[in-house]
Amino acid sequence: MSLNIQELREEFPLLHQEINKKPLVYFDNAATTQKPTVVIDRLNEYYKNENCNIHRGDYHLSRQATKAYENTRKTVQSFINARHSHEIIFTRGTTEAINLVASSFSKKFIAKDDEVLISTMEHHSNIVPWQLACEERGAHLKVIPIDQNGDLIMDEYYKMLNEKTRIVAITHVSNSLGTINPIQQIIDAAHKKNIPVLIDGAQAMPHLKVDVSELDCDFYCFSGHKMYGPMGVGVLFGKEEWLEQMPPYQGGGEMISEVTFAKTTFNELPFKFEAGTPNVGDVLGLEKAVTFLSSLGYENIQKHEDEILQYTIEQMKSIDKIKLIGTGNNKTAVFSFLFEDIHPYDTGVILDKMGIAVRTGHHCTQPLMDFFQIPGTVRASMAVYNTKEEIDRFIDGLNMVRKMFG
Ligand code: PMP
Repeated sequence: MSLNIQELREEFPLLHQEINKKPLVYFDNAATTQKPTVVIDRLNEYYKNENCNIHRGDYHLSRQATKAYENTRKTVQSFINARHSHEIIFTRGTTEAINLVASSFSKKFIAKDDEVLISTMEHHSNIVPWQLACEERGAHLKVIPIDQNGDLIMDEYYKMLNEKTRIVAITHVSNSLGTINPIQQIIDAAHKKNIPVLIDGAQAMPHLKVDVSELDCDFYCFSGHKMYGPMGVGVLFGKEEWLEQMPPYQGGGEMISEVTFAKTTFNELPFKFEAGTPNVGDVLGLEKAVTFLSSLGYENIQKHEDEILQYTIEQMKSIDKIKLIGTGNNKTAVFSFLFEDIHPYDTGVILDKMGIAVRTGHHCTQPLMDFFQIPGTVRASMAVYNTKEEIDRFIDGLNMVRKMFG
């Protein structure tokens, strides 16, 4: 089935506005996606009629909100095909999910001189938590290299797995390059040596169907706001056997079983990892985002986004002195590029004047920029609601930049 993109765009109120007297072209979807009306309405409805603290009240509203919150856990469980709903932990986002694992897993399983494996293309959110953990435990951070296309060098990866490796933490899709990593091979190779794998799925969830049971990954992290859901909510999937063994990340309400001044015992999963009042409203908004994505169907999303990807690649070939960073064969519709002689910021400002929103800078991947020996790029990142007409406007914009700088 082909999606009717014009109809789909009607679901996104924010897209229908003018910026600098031009219809908005929103190409910063890797930073955050826009929200469909079903998600916005759900937040409104919750705060208007259902707002309540959960798990604590013996009255109707609290029971109702608790049920809705716990139902969302089941919706997410089936969305990513986890075995148990208690393997779904709600967090503030991908960053918090990775910090949770890096902190808690390392306390139990990482010791002096052990190794943690990440890659050159990681977002800072999948670098810094591991650096902190390694520093604390006296362990070493090892980095899987990439080639000039922005693909992982898999032979190097296989060589780096050894008896000291305690965990592999790697992105499913690169936010700066769009590269889709071969995570099944990565997981299988690590598992042959009994090494667990964490996948940073922040950039995968809006584009690719994820089945954590089929992948057999040990942890999978993602953010609601990059998949048409609200900001401030995300998910950590963790296999029960790991989560059971890991100590709590934060202390406070809901994660306890019993507290005395002498000793505290901890609640069972998933509550052990959800300290404090949860973000109920945004979790309910996330449920709507998940059902929205399911109703579109990932095959249809991918079909449209692949068309956009191929069309943009073709169109960009016509522009002089432009260099695409991230030219692997398997990628999402993310275009990081540079004009040889124009600062990315200048390109971004001119595109903005034309109503086109792109991002410029290092995109929280400074080591990746160092690898390519560039300070940053211009990044256009697309979503399911973007159209060929918008790409034409973008290409016109790039031609205009080219013309202005000669
Ligand atoms: N990992 C990747 C690959 C990302 O693109 C991002 C967000 N740009 C993050 C992690 C962090 O996500 P969040 O800010 O929602 O926690």
